[in-house]
Amino acid sequence: MQTPPPDFSRPAPLLALVVPCLDEAEALPETQRVLMHTLDSLVSAGLAREGSFVLYVDDGSSDSTWRLIEEFAGLRPGRVRGLRLAANAGHQHALMAGLDEVACVCDAAVSLDADLQDSPEAIADMLRLYAKGYEIVYGVRRRRKSDNVFKVLTAKAFYRLRRSLGVSTVCDHADFRLLSAKALKALGRFEETNLFLRGIVPMLGMTQGRVYYDRPPRRYGKSKYPLARMLNFAADGITSFSVRPARMILGCGLAFMAIAAVILVYVLIRYFTDHTIAGWTSIILSIWFCTGVLLLALGVVGEYLAKVYMEVKRRPRWQPDSRTGTAVAPERDENADSGR
Ligand code: UDP
Ligand code: MG
Repeated sequence: MQTPPPDFSRPAPLLALVVPCLDEAEALPETQRVLMHTLDSLVSAGLAREGSFVLYVDDGSSDSTWRLIEEFAGLRPGRVRGLRLAANAGHQHALMAGLDEVACVCDAAVSLDADLQDSPEAIADMLRLYAKGYEIVYGVRRRRKSDNVFKVLTAKAFYRLRRSLGVSTVCDHADFRLLSAKALKALGRFEETNLFLRGIVPMLGMTQGRVYYDRPPRRYGKSKYPLARMLNFAADGITSFSVRPARMILGCGLAFMAIAAVILVYVLIRYFTDHTIAGWTSIILSIWFCTGVLLLALGVVGEYLAKVYMEVKRRPRWQPDSRTGTAVAPERDENADSGR
C-alpha cells in the first residue's frame, strides 16, 4: 500500500453516495432527509462539487421503497437518482451495480447503508483524506456498542480466521467506504460472481486511509442479515479469497500417513510379542493407512480444484497505477490494459 505525497491536494470531487436498499421504506424518509442535508453541507463547505448526488439502488424491494425513491428524485432533481434492479441480487451485487452506474460520472463514490448506521458525518473526514490524495478511505467502527456480545465475538473470530488464512482484511470495516474514480475503475476489472467487496478492495492497492466512526443501532426497519445469511456471507469472505482450507486436507493426509507409520511400528511390536487377537494388526493398520491415502488423494484433487477456482475468477493480475517517461508505444492508451 502506498502513501500519498505530503503536499498533495486535489479539487473537490463530484461525489456520488451509493445506497443499496432492500425493503427500506420505513428508513428511507429519514435517510433522504439526512443525506440531502449532508450533501448540501459538503457542497457549501467546498468538500464536494455542485452536482454531487445520491444514487439509491432498489434491490428488488417488495414494499414501497421504489415509489419513495421516485418521489425523492422528483423533489430533488439532479440530487437524487435511482436504479431499480429487476430482482433481489443481494447486498454486494446491489452495491456493485450502484458503483458501476456512477463510475464514469463521478470523481469519488461513498457507499453506505440505507439505515444511517454508517454515520454520514464521517463522509466529510473521508473527503478530507481524498483531498490529500487517498484513493480509498475505509469507514472503521470505533466501538461496537450497538452489537450484542455474540456479534462482537463472532466478528472478532472471523477477522482472526481470515488473517490466519492469509486474507488481507480491514478489521471492523463493513461496506462504508470512499472510492475515487481511479479505484472504481480498478474495481470494475474484478468480474467475480461471489462478491465480497471488503475483501477485494484491499487488493486494489493504491493509497488507502481510514476514518473512525461510531455505529448507532438501526432506528427504522429490520436488519436484512439474519444469522444464517451472515454465516453464509462470512463463508464467502473466506472461500472466495483463500484456498488454504483445501490445502489443509493435504496436510491432514500427510499427518495420517505419519501416524500410520508410528502405528505400524507399534502393532508389529504387539504382534511379535503375541499380545494381539487375530486380525487386529491388519485392521488397525488398514484404517490409518487407507484414511491417509484417501485424504492425500482428496488433497491433491483439492489442490487442482483450487487452481481452477482461482483461474475461473479471472481476477486482474495487476493494476496500473501511474506511468512516467516516454511510452514505448505512444499510441496505446490506458484502456488497452487488460491486466490479464
Ligand atoms: N441490502 C440490499 N440487498 C439485500 C440485503 C441488504 O440492498 O439483499 C441493503 C439494506 O437495505 C441495507 C444494506 O444493504 O441498506 C445493509 O443491510 P442491513 O442494514 O440489513 O445489514 P446490517 O447492518 O444489519 O448488517
Ligand atoms: Mg445496517
